[in-house]
Amino acid sequence: MARDSLSIAQTSDAPLHAGSVLSTLNDDGTRRWLRPRVSLGRFLSGRRAVAYILIAIFISLPLLRIGGRPLILLDIPARRFHILGQTFYPTDTLLLALLLVTVFLTIFWLTALFGRVWCGWACPQTVYMEFLFRPIERFFEGAPGRRNLNKLQSSSLRKPLKFAVYFVCCFGLAHVFLAYFVSWDLLSQWVFGSPVAHPVGFVVVGFVTLAMLFNFGYFREQVCLVACPYGRFQSVMLDRHSLTIRYDQTRGEPRKGSEKTDVPLAVLHGQASAGDCVDCRMCVTTCPTGIDIRNGVQMECIGCAQCIDACDAVMAKIHKPAGLIRYSSLAAMKGEKFKILRPRVVLYPSVIVLLSALFLFVLSGTGIADVTVLRGPGQPFSAIGDTDIENHLRLKITNRTAAPARFQVSVTGVDGARIGADAADLEIGPDQTLTNSLPLLVPRSAFLEGKRQVVFVVHGPGEFERRIPFVALGPSGGGSKHSEDHQ
Ligand code: SF4
Ligand code: SF4
Repeated sequence: MARDSLSIAQTSDAPLHAGSVLSTLNDDGTRRWLRPRVSLGRFLSGRRAVAYILIAIFISLPLLRIGGRPLILLDIPARRFHILGQTFYPTDTLLLALLLVTVFLTIFWLTALFGRVWCGWACPQTVYMEFLFRPIERFFEGAPGRRNLNKLQSSSLRKPLKFAVYFVCCFGLAHVFLAYFVSWDLLSQWVFGSPVAHPVGFVVVGFVTLAMLFNFGYFREQVCLVACPYGRFQSVMLDRHSLTIRYDQTRGEPRKGSEKTDVPLAVLHGQASAGDCVDCRMCVTTCPTGIDIRNGVQMECIGCAQCIDACDAVMAKIHKPAGLIRYSSLAAMKGEKFKILRPRVVLYPSVIVLLSALFLFVLSGTGIADVTVLRGPGQPFSAIGDTDIENHLRLKITNRTAAPARFQVSVTGVDGARIGADAADLEIGPDQTLTNSLPLLVPRSAFLEGKRQVVFVVHGPGEFERRIPFVALGPSGGGSKHSEDHQ
């Protein structure tokens, strides 16, 4: 197996063992629990800053409003999504599809450029695991490999206390998560009200809390290793010039083996080595997915750069230049010139620009309201006395604005055609949809062959006008009274 290919197995001729198949598997099939060391360094500092900014954004997004609407609210019960001040309805399938495809293509593009930058720097799984739950764990159980534990860390209460704090965090995060679906205002009412009054919300919070607790307390890195699909297909998104975290084999090999896997750094000083790697395994013990980056780029590598920080610290101590493990590309490692203009790096942004333009074009055409005219259930028309035919229709108007709006409905195209008075003038609340019966009265004499085209005209606030052609049905044969029998 080539060292630079993505693999789940170690690259050597040695026989396969459980750890080659899954880095968290012991030979007897049990789980190898990981407690990665923290490696301080520039990348950890950068990731920590990004993580806390992202956590702050996650918590504050449901609180923010734009143009009178929530910045983000996925209001599933009301079947509408508020995203960045814009409201999307189930009828906006094209817009939502464009938005979704654009987001995915952007992730593909970033992956082609920077490898798994999303996984290592911004994925909620990494952010919360590494910068919230692991620090809590270290607080209660001590840092991995540390022997002088304090009183709390050596007490038998350390695990129950850790899980109690985990529970509080998960409970809080579950509420924030729910706020994306029900808004902070409603959530606040629920929090201070009785759970009996909102059983669904209560069950959702309970379920999300337990799911998070299971994930961050037990499942952990298994999400990245076996559950997340993104890691599985990243290999098709990378090319020779994609930036990934790599071990410089030319410089590092042959490595000087240390006698123990956990050699104190001081011992390393002055060690002679053919290559720069002193086989201290600091890059391995710090890895949150338990892999050895020296075996080549692997599917399990989430690009967290902890191995870079660990190895740079070792290099500094043995007075070698940093960067034995570094952000690089397959081409650069082979001494090839970096190529910025590659097919996928050009293709992805081109399609993204195209889709974004299409999205804006479709969005600009939505106007302040959606209007639909539908035939009502039951008989299509009935006679009103000797003079008129009534079509039983339904009118659906969605007010897409953040303020109440009045809409006037009229009909044109046939002399004497009119609408029942109570359907002609409608007030609709902000972001509300009104479905109303729409009685259309057309003179009997207008029907020559059982139908007649009319045009509904809907006026709303400002310049809003929507014209909807519609075929009214009536008696055939010139409108004689008996012809209504075929209804
Ligand atoms: S941290 Fe650096 S020196 Fe130590 S084993 Fe890893 S690559 Fe080799
Ligand atoms: S190999 Fe390095 S970058 Fe990849 S997950 Fe492990 S520590 Fe992070």
